[in-house]
Amino acid sequence: MGGGATLGGEEGGRGTPASASSISLSPSSPLPPPQPKAPPSSPKRKKGPRPKHVPQRMCVACREHDTKRGLHRIVRTPEGAVEPDPTGRRNGRGAYLCGRAACWEKALSSGMLTRALNVEIDQESLDALRRYAATLPLETSEAAGTAPINKGGEA
Ligand SMILES: [Zn+2]
Repeated sequence: MGGGATLGGEEGGRGTPASASSISLSPSSPLPPPQPKAPPSSPKRKKGPRPKHVPQRMCVACREHDTKRGLHRIVRTPEGAVEPDPTGRRNGRGAYLCGRAACWEKALSSGMLTRALNVEIDQESLDALRRYAATLPLETSEAAGTAPINKGGEA
């Protein structure tokens, strides 16, 4: 018995460094296809006036749609009375007078307000309306026309 052999084997493997970095740059963000710019040849949209529902307020005396001065409302109450309506929200048929004192005088004296409201206005109501008109900042220095009044009397 004897004998021995040392089996020695070298098993050495050299690892091959596989450092093959394969970088593949692929265009992941494709550019949008170039589009030909369309010239703005399309016709513009129609911009017509919209049919707004605007309540028409007209001075019953001069028949002007005056929004600059503002119109004062006079209401015929359901009871048949004619009273000024400073709030403009009272129920009843309303008539409007502009801010000219001449229009108030004209409407109250000539029956224009009576026709506008389609009601008989008694003297008491007329007086009340005149007193109410006296409290308003009515234009008294303006004549019926558009010519400015010359201060200094009529020539
Ligand atoms: Zn008027």
